Amino acid sequence: MQYYSLNHNAPDVDFKTATLYGQAPDKGLYFPKYIPRFSEKFLQNLSTLSSEEIGVEVIRPYIENEIPEADLKRIVSETLNFPIPLVPVNDNIWSLELYHGPTLAFKDIGARFMSRCLGYFAKQIEKRIVVLVATSGDTGGAVAHGFYDVPGIDVVILYPSGKVSPVQEKQLTTLGKNIHALEVKGNFDDCQRMVKQAFTDKELTENIFLTSANSINVARWLPQQFYYLLALKQWNQAQPPVISVPSGNFGNICAGLLANASGMPVDHFVAAVNMNDVVPRYFETKRYEPLPAKATLSNAMDVGDPSNFIRVREIFHDSFPGLSEKMSSEKFTDQQTEAAIEKVYQAFHYTLDPHGAVAFLGLDSYLKKHPGKKGFILETAHPVKFPESVERITGTKIPIPEHVQPIMSAQKKSILIDPDYVQLKQSLSSLF
Ligand SMILES: *Cc1c(COP(=O)(O)O)cnc(C)c1O
Repeated sequence: MQYYSLNHNAPDVDFKTATLYGQAPDKGLYFPKYIPRFSEKFLQNLSTLSSEEIGVEVIRPYIENEIPEADLKRIVSETLNFPIPLVPVNDNIWSLELYHGPTLAFKDIGARFMSRCLGYFAKQIEKRIVVLVATSGDTGGAVAHGFYDVPGIDVVILYPSGKVSPVQEKQLTTLGKNIHALEVKGNFDDCQRMVKQAFTDKELTENIFLTSANSINVARWLPQQFYYLLALKQWNQAQPPVISVPSGNFGNICAGLLANASGMPVDHFVAAVNMNDVVPRYFETKRYEPLPAKATLSNAMDVGDPSNFIRVREIFHDSFPGLSEKMSSEKFTDQQTEAAIEKVYQAFHYTLDPHGAVAFLGLDSYLKKHPGKKGFILETAHPVKFPESVERITGTKIPIPEHVQPIMSAQKKSILIDPDYVQLKQSLSSLF
C-alpha cells in the first residue's frame, strides 16, 4: 500500500516510511492510496474467527508484504491481548469496553500496534530509534506501556511536574527499562516546545533516529478498526448498529468510518463531543472553524482543531452530503455529562466514565429521533481514571483493576529538569 500526503505536496511512501516518519515532509497527514474491501466471506464468517485472525485480515492490505505473516500475527495478537467485551446497558444500547488494557484507555490498542511495527522496522535502521513525546497525561502512558520492553527502541517522555494525576505519573515513571521519564519544571507547552526543538536539532538527529509516535501516525490510526469488527462479531441484532464515538481528535471515529467504507455494515455514526464543538458547527454551517480548546470534564476530548477530521472528509471525497448521511455530531455540556453518569448508574447499574457518558448522550439522542434502531457506544476510558467526578456522582467507590495495582506501589523514577532545551539535550546525551 502506498500513502499520499493530504497536503498533496510530498512523494507517496510505503507503510514503513509512513510509520517511521509519522507525518509527510509537507506536514500533511498520510492517507492510503485506496480503501480496500473486506470479502463477503470474511464478514459472514466473523463469528468463527479469532481476534488475531480478524486483526490480520483487516490490516493486511495496508501493510502487504512489508511485514511477513508470522510477525504480523504476533504483532496483532500482542496488540489484542486483553478482552474487549460488548456489554448491554439497556434494551437499545450496548457499551464496547475498550478500557481493559494496561493504561485503562482505548489508546492502548493503537499504541501497542504502532510500537510493535516500529520495533519490527527498527531492525532495518542503523541508528538507535528514540521516541520523544511530550504528554499532558494520557497519551504518554499509553505510549510508554506500548513500547515497554520493545527491543531496539527507547522512549523519552517529557511531562509537566505536578500537572499530571498521581495514577498518570505512576504510569509514566515506574516502568523503567527502555522507558525514560523527564519531569519538566514547567507546563505542557514547555514540554512540547522542547520536543519540537529536538526534532530540528541536526547534531542530535545525526546520531539517533527521533520519532514522535503521535496520534496521527497511520500505525496508530489504522489498527483502531480492529475493535469495530470485534464489536460486530459480538453484535447479535438483526439490524446494523448505530455507533456513537466520544470524539476529540477524531482518529477513533475515523477508523470506524474507514471500516465502514471497506464494507462493515453500520447504520450511522454519531460523533459525540463536549463543548469543543467545531464539528457539530461544521455540520450546521458547512464551515470548518477551529477555536482554542476549552477545558471540560471529558478532558481527553478537549480539542479545538481535530487533526484527523481531514481524514474523515477524505474518506467521503470531501462530499458534504455523503458525510452527513453517514455521520452526525452533537455536543453536550459537563452538566449533561454528569447527569448521564448518574442516570445510567441509577437506572441501569452501569458506570460510565465522562467520555463514555458523552457518547451515551449522543447515542440516546439519536435513537430517540430514530425509533426502532439500536446501537453501541465506544467506552474509551475506565471510570476509575476519573474518580473525583465519577465517585462523587455515583456515591460508589470504584476499585482499581487488579492488573494495574502493581504500578500504584512501584517506585517513581524520573529525571527532573528545567524547562530549558539545553537540559533536554544533556539528558538525551547522558542516556544514549
Ligand atoms: C483520546 C481520547 C478520546 C478521543 O479520541 P480521538 O481519537 O482523539 O477522537 C476519547 N476518550 C478518551 C478516554 C481518550 O483518551
